Amino acid sequence: MLKIGILEGDDIGLEVVPEAVKVMKAAAAKVGLAVDWRPLPIGRRGHETHGHTMPPVTVATLKEVDGWVQGPIGHNAYPRGDATFINPPLRKMFDLFASVKPVKSYANIASIHKNVDIVFLREVTEGMQSSSVTHAGTGEFRPNDDITIGHRVITRKGSNRVARAAFEIARNRPRRRVTAVHKEPVYRLACGMFAEECRKVATEYPDVKFDEVLVDGFAMKLVMAPQPFDVVVTTNQFGDILTDEGAGLVGGLGLAPGLCIGERQAMAQATHGSAPDIAGRNIANPYAMIMSGAMLFQWLGRNRGMSAPVEAAALIERAMDRVIAEATSLTADLGGTASTSGMGDAVVAAIG
Ligand code: ATP
Repeated sequence: MLKIGILEGDDIGLEVVPEAVKVMKAAAAKVGLAVDWRPLPIGRRGHETHGHTMPPVTVATLKEVDGWVQGPIGHNAYPRGDATFINPPLRKMFDLFASVKPVKSYANIASIHKNVDIVFLREVTEGMQSSSVTHAGTGEFRPNDDITIGHRVITRKGSNRVARAAFEIARNRPRRRVTAVHKEPVYRLACGMFAEECRKVATEYPDVKFDEVLVDGFAMKLVMAPQPFDVVVTTNQFGDILTDEGAGLVGGLGLAPGLCIGERQAMAQATHGSAPDIAGRNIANPYAMIMSGAMLFQWLGRNRGMSAPVEAAALIERAMDRVIAEATSLTADLGGTASTSGMGDAVVAAIG
């Protein structure tokens, strides 16, 4: 039995998260996976019902679940004085150290490149230190009005665990290749330590090919010929930029799922924000949220050594591939006329 939290978030989160959960429930039922679903207030609903956008009851329950599905947060809609940021504190609190972002092209969906199938792992607890990654204070300061100083933190532990997570993912993919992206010739100590840890971990995975590419050259290759890349692991700020570049290659925000992973817990979260401009109209594309849910199942299954969640994830992926290939139930951003729930229904139907 898995325990999974449902945090709808704000705006289109209220529409796409229920679709993701609906699809996950259908896949779980098909493979006989029991899930204890825990709906939890967050965002505006949290404020309305518990007086806080991240209510203590939500945080306490998240400590007990295996993972959760989290919708986008609409920061702009909150009353002043309440917590404005939710995701960085949550990542810190639960030590969700890597952001996993797949970038996949589809034959019939407009994209800059075809035959792209990359999974990015971005370390998210270190790097250039802003208040979102420090325990207290911030890594930036301005001693006088003409000078600003920022620093970057890289640790062996942080580098090692994100590299390990990348090799674990690569091991289960057909091409079995990890590319570490850094800039060691310039940042000899910081990128050097990251690269050293990647190399160390690589020796433990002889079944996975390993190579290294410098970040500037990688950015160019990603634009010109992304097809050879399989799993790409990198540090926080490089990953921040490259994952958006990757999403742009294959169709943009509506098609960019994500999973934040820790040692034992994970949070499914699409890359897109709460899109208030299209909220409440049942037109948002649920792809990213649904596929984030599939990633959560797959990761939990592998992490816990359970086959049913991995099978449920594969069912969702195959069903989504079919819905996209058939192209009769796609939302407007994908060139179709279906509603959010219409596309979710089609994925459920394709699960069978
Ligand atoms: P945030 O600041 O919350 O991260 P943002 O300003 O980066 O958000 P998003 O809310 O992600 O922007 O959305 C940008 C635009 O992309 C939206 O206004 C919307 O038109 C479109 N968009 C985003 N997500 C989706 C989706 N799932 N389906 C369709 N369109 C979307």
